[in-house]
Amino acid sequence: AQERYASLRQLPAQSRCGTVTALHMNAGLMADLPSLEHSGAESVGLFRTELQFLIRNQMPKRAELARIYTRVLDAAKGRTVTFRTLDIGSDKVLPYMKPQDEPNPAMGWRAIRVGLDKPGVLRMQLQALIRAHGTRPMSVMFPFIAEGSEYREARALLLREMERERALGHPVPEGLRIGTMLETPALAFAPDHFFRDVDFISIGGNDLKQFFFAADRENERVRRRYDTLSAAFLEFVRRIVARCEEHGVPLSFCGEDAGRPIEAMCFAAMGIRTLSMRPASIGPVKTLLRRIDLAGLRAVIDAAMLDHDSVREPVIAWLATQSGD
Ligand code: PEP
Ligand code: MG
Repeated sequence: AQERYASLRQLPAQSRCGTVTALHMNAGLMADLPSLEHSGAESVGLFRTELQFLIRNQMPKRAELARIYTRVLDAAKGRTVTFRTLDIGSDKVLPYMKPQDEPNPAMGWRAIRVGLDKPGVLRMQLQALIRAHGTRPMSVMFPFIAEGSEYREARALLLREMERERALGHPVPEGLRIGTMLETPALAFAPDHFFRDVDFISIGGNDLKQFFFAADRENERVRRRYDTLSAAFLEFVRRIVARCEEHGVPLSFCGEDAGRPIEAMCFAAMGIRTLSMRPASIGPVKTLLRRIDLAGLRAVIDAAMLDHDSVREPVIAWLATQSGD
């Protein structure tokens, strides 16, 4: 399949209406890095840093992490890498950390909640990122933020670490972009000043959808029960897009649905201009985006949302009427 899409590698995901969607890749392991070249990804839109912690049997040291992040940035060759800080706790248990006994780990003490309550590991990770950075483009993204105050606290922690590193004589990143995942419905309704404080937002659809529908993403019985293309979820996405546009906040989508061509084209039609996905999905998503007219699709979605629980069928029917060349 990589061969089949090779000819597309250098071409933009430009739809017939002229709109270009940026396609980024998700990564987390060193083995993912060669995909930066093969897939045609513009950058790493989500680097899941917890994977480097999960594959070890002891807490990595700061110097070791800095070396890993340096290799990632080297491999990116000037493309931006968006490092998501540790999303661990509860369900993603590190063998070398005390397990928590929680009834609902997915809604428990995880990710930024751990980072803010016990900041030692997060601070060490931020120091490693600052040291690895040099002068290359890099963004830092916080996971599982539910309130503006959590974002501000996490950002202040990062800025404090930068000040410390500067005082120690280390060069600190210029123009570092700091943003957050949107994985909890509450964050979409945060007061305006949250949107003024973030440099970017990335929708983590895997978690956002599980909390929107109250359907556990790990539970086979319910995980596919609700359609991402339901009118309710798209209405919610529409609202997030509108708030980000109002405040000039760049918005991306980095959950698994970004790599499903039909879902991806619908998000693009709703106004999400950046999608981050597993590398193998970039070719298929790009192929479809280049075939269609996003404005036309938007009209189909808007109309279908008025009287369908899910827009999937009308969207697929419309797609069948579009010529394939
Ligand atoms: C998400 O929740 O959509 C996401 C990208 O994060 P993860 O899948 O790592 O929870
Ligand atoms: Mg998530």
